[in-house]
Amino acid sequence: MNGAIIPAKQNSLEEQRRQLPIAQGRDALIQEIRDNDVIVLVGETGSGKTTQVPQYLLESGVAGEGVIAVTQPRRVAATSLAARVAAEKNVQLGGLVGYSVRFDESSTEATRIKYVTDGMLVRELLSDPLLSRYSAVIVDEAHERTLRTDILMANLKTIQRSRNQPVDRKGKGRATALNPLKIIIMSATLDAEKFSKFYDNAKVLYVEGRQHPVKTYYTATSQPDYVDAALRTFYQIHIDQSPGDVLIFLPGQEDIESLEKSITMYANRLPQECMGVTVCPLYAALPPTQQAKIFSATSKGIRKCILATNIAETSITIPGVKYVIDTGKCKEKRYIARSVGTGFDTLLTRDITKSSAMQRAGRAGREGPGLCFRLYTEESFKAMPISAEPEIRRCTLTSSLLQLKCMGQNLEQLDFMDKPEQDTIISALATLHLLSAVDDKKALTHLGRRMALFPLEPTLARSLLAATEFGCTREMLDILSILSASSKVFYDSSEEREAALETRRKFRHSSGDHMTVLNVVRSYDEIAASESKAGQRDWCQKQYLNFRCLTEAMDIRKQLREACEKNGIDWQLSCGDNEQPVLKSLVRGLVQNAAFLQPDGSYKQIMGPSIVKIHPGSSLCDKKVPAIVYDELVRVILRRV
Ligand code: ADP
Ligand code: MG
Repeated sequence: MNGAIIPAKQNSLEEQRRQLPIAQGRDALIQEIRDNDVIVLVGETGSGKTTQVPQYLLESGVAGEGVIAVTQPRRVAATSLAARVAAEKNVQLGGLVGYSVRFDESSTEATRIKYVTDGMLVRELLSDPLLSRYSAVIVDEAHERTLRTDILMANLKTIQRSRNQPVDRKGKGRATALNPLKIIIMSATLDAEKFSKFYDNAKVLYVEGRQHPVKTYYTATSQPDYVDAALRTFYQIHIDQSPGDVLIFLPGQEDIESLEKSITMYANRLPQECMGVTVCPLYAALPPTQQAKIFSATSKGIRKCILATNIAETSITIPGVKYVIDTGKCKEKRYIARSVGTGFDTLLTRDITKSSAMQRAGRAGREGPGLCFRLYTEESFKAMPISAEPEIRRCTLTSSLLQLKCMGQNLEQLDFMDKPEQDTIISALATLHLLSAVDDKKALTHLGRRMALFPLEPTLARSLLAATEFGCTREMLDILSILSASSKVFYDSSEEREAALETRRKFRHSSGDHMTVLNVVRSYDEIAASESKAGQRDWCQKQYLNFRCLTEAMDIRKQLREACEKNGIDWQLSCGDNEQPVLKSLVRGLVQNAAFLQPDGSYKQIMGPSIVKIHPGSSLCDKKVPAIVYDELVRVILRRV
């Protein structure tokens, strides 16, 4: 039976591959890649760039024998695309086709096509500066211009020079090891010129896309409560419009979860004769197991409603979408400078750019004519900037600066597409100096080199190394794993707030929230030792703890423990019930985020002019301790209602 089913499925995937717009240009594309070492490939979202180009390279052998890397700015895109391509190739994920993202990897020696986050490939530069395992690097979604993509593009340029034109022919072995490198820069928007120029006028190729007309509507007035506006618009579509799935763009996970709740609530009250609704969330932290639902076809009489962040703009194409609702918002990482050395990155919700708005509308016209409802006015659209500023111009450079220093590179001299601001560089240097990662002469220290060994922010890596000194690596890894997870361990649903606070009181530690987190992990460890997964989930629910965060954190902890072992660090050092070593280690890393009590009861940052307040959810909230350190600062934006 099975034997009969698999080939049939395989055929239909084969058929789907053949029908993609890019398939017509397959042979020409392969020829161009053969003739050129760098190609810039531009094509409409959904034309088949990300899933097909790596397969063409592999099938034609044009990229030699090495591994083909495909970079993605987001992990959810890397994992889901790898799964798709493995299915198209009819192989197990992690074999011929695999992926590698921070804290999660599915690849083996046999892997030839590897979907990776841009950050992972930058990290690989540390151990393999010429990326010698790879014969082709495809930089995908290059138009997003993330910091890691920019660092990668700068490095690829020099790597290609040394690999493709080996000047040093003395060492024979080295010359043979240096297989040539193909670079393919892929983008969904028409900004190819800049990439081409950067790579010495590289050849630009265009994939003819299929785009049907999309009719766009605006609101008459601005909609401050965009989640509510999205809810109403969705139900208008659902009641009035013909079948077809709806894609709603929202800034982040919180809004997605809240809209998911309200859409589901109303869906349950719909009259019998009405079409059913199924809601699929899609955001960066979505576990791979839940991704499949987005792509599965809905049965007749059901309308699928996908709630997505800007991932669905160009990275992931969802079939069946006929209606797009665009809230006009996204989250953007931005560096908030206070004074030199005291800035930090925050995620701010802000208006999107014209280019995003156009991509979002375009998602409605993939399979036929569509409709796009913009929840903002036409004037707001006209006032939007054309495209976003590259991340390198607006984010902290601390972590990247440390990595570059480990590679012996100088941020100021690297050939970037856009140069970072001098102030941001100075600020990053000041932070590294404070952490003792660089010395007074800005040279990398032994400690700095060790900090870069861990897939952690330099501040957290510093705390981990301090913990080896103070004998509490076990406790520190418990805490860092929770801090590194993509969701929060304490979740608050407003209805059950009081009950949640009461239940969690037993975990509270008088020395602060990091120790509270440690208490949670310790209790969870005890439960996990005896209970099944279902039992653990149940326990978490009763304690008002986020099961998803804890399981992810345990995975992260395992990997951090392995990283410790690999680097000769004993992760089993424990300080038992004495919290002092843990607190001391935390201070080493978070020193920049220290604040002292003022006579009026507020706290003032030691490294900056700002007054900070303790979050009402903190165990220190109503205590007056002389000094605090924090790992997260939330900006409260007061809005006039
Ligand atoms: P591009 O990179 O040009 O935007 P892709 O290669 O990502 O295009 O997508 C090509 C096609 O593959 C799209 O029609 C998309 O819907 C489909 N596809 C991609 N991933 C999946 C998946 N996980 N399941 C089903 N279809 C998918
Ligand atoms: Mg793509």
